[in-house]
Amino acid sequence: MSKKNYQIKNYINGNHVSVSNNNLDIIDPSTGEKIGEVALSEVKDFENAIKSSETAYQNWSEVTPLKRSRIISKYKENIEKDIQNLAKLVSSEHGKTLEDAKGSVIRGLEVVEFACGIPHLLKGEFSQNVGTGIDSWSIRQPLGIAAGITPFNFPAMVPMWMYPIAIACGNSFILKPSEKDPSCSLRLAELFSESGLPDGVFNVLNGDKDIVNMLLNEPKVQSISFVGSTPVAKYIYEVSAKNGKRVQALGGAKNHLVVMPDANIDLAVDGIMGAAYGSAGERCMAVSVAVAVGDIADQLVEEINNKAQTLKVAPWTDPDAEMGPVISIEHKQKIENYIETGKKEGARLVLDGRNISIQGYEKGNFVGPTLFDNVTKDMTIYKEEIFGPVLSVVRAKNYEEAINLINSHSYGNGTSIYTSDGEISRHFTTNSNIGMVGVNVPIPVPMAFHSFGGWKQSLFGDHAMHGTEGVKFYTKLKTVTSRWPKSIRSGPEFVMPTN
Ligand code: NAD
Repeated sequence: MSKKNYQIKNYINGNHVSVSNNNLDIIDPSTGEKIGEVALSEVKDFENAIKSSETAYQNWSEVTPLKRSRIISKYKENIEKDIQNLAKLVSSEHGKTLEDAKGSVIRGLEVVEFACGIPHLLKGEFSQNVGTGIDSWSIRQPLGIAAGITPFNFPAMVPMWMYPIAIACGNSFILKPSEKDPSCSLRLAELFSESGLPDGVFNVLNGDKDIVNMLLNEPKVQSISFVGSTPVAKYIYEVSAKNGKRVQALGGAKNHLVVMPDANIDLAVDGIMGAAYGSAGERCMAVSVAVAVGDIADQLVEEINNKAQTLKVAPWTDPDAEMGPVISIEHKQKIENYIETGKKEGARLVLDGRNISIQGYEKGNFVGPTLFDNVTKDMTIYKEEIFGPVLSVVRAKNYEEAINLINSHSYGNGTSIYTSDGEISRHFTTNSNIGMVGVNVPIPVPMAFHSFGGWKQSLFGDHAMHGTEGVKFYTKLKTVTSRWPKSIRSGPEFVMPTN
């Protein structure tokens, strides 16, 4: 676990190094105190990372997929051994509870596990006799240097959506983690080295938007994977595409959970509690809107309110904590402003999480669980992503009104429905204009061997992350057509060949 006042550098070519002396404070969200510093990279750091990644790629791309897979298997073992430490690194800088942090590392680890199967995943396709005596096959080749830019809310899991697959495919990878909680990614990089990954295949470059812009504008960087807020995702997508790079840019969300009148209400309330308030609502798959259909609304609001009041809000060091602080004092103020706006615009504030005070942690960025009822689609708290423990209940007359709300919202990351009606559920999964859909589950996050990605303003680009989509994103398709005729000369052909 982190010591106090530690110094975070870059991880380049297997070493912790930074040229830059320009440091940013790392703040413990539970206390508001500085616990460390991270060096914000400058041009020389960037150049060193590119040089290292370029050299490493030459050899790594020629290592056989089976040998790569063995290193990744070792990496999996090493992460498992270090999991408690990794979870503490996440919690100490992010603030989420230790069990939640551990869960997020495990979800990342599952992508590492998936990447162990890379020899199978890269097998390609083969057709004999596409024409007489002609065979054709397709192979997937690595891109070169791939880069990833990640958000603060999952400092282990989101980078692990990207680099294990990119590296398994034979690329070198530069990670630019969030400057708010960078420690975990450095430990993940060290563990990869300890597992036998050659130096320079995985480099971590710390910094803020300046270093991101260098990555976007560097011709040697072939692909950009981004996860973060929608305005930045859109910018990343546009600049990367303009520069001819392959890009996947995942943005923000406003996930709706529909509760039908025939739903198992206890199941729905339990699901909503974890999905709305877990990790203080700082998850891109958090449920921030509950759509209560028909006459279930009063009971739903009452039960959520009762349960939310019993939630234990505490720092991650408290083993009974169910919800920790939000990331920064600025973010806490932003969330509190949204709560005020919600009230002013006419929503009913059932439970107000402002002014929560935790003994011994008065300067921490805590916001208590907050519940609004009678929210309507024209309100700011409905339209915008709050990214905090604020749940809005919207009342809908019927199912059609509920699905129309979801389909007309600008975000399209995740959604879920609680019902006991199979026909409604089938209609919902087929017709909701959303990338990840759940039925009687609150957070439909796909497993590593499926792919993660939203629609509309929640993803810019053509590929979702991890699973076979990840393999496609991090490789170029090549198709070969080959003939070995006995007599070489058959004369020129001037018409399109048909078989
Ligand atoms: P953010 O957009 O502020 O930052 C993300 C990354 O981009 C960071 O590494 C940051 O240094 C960099 N960055 C910030 N501003 C930049 C700029 N102007 N130019 C270039 N780079 C810039 O996001 P955040 O606050 O760290 O994370 C929270 C957001 O991420 C939320 O909106 C959340 O919904 C989203 N998120 C989405 C997913 C998903 O899968 N769709 C997953 C996790 C988080």
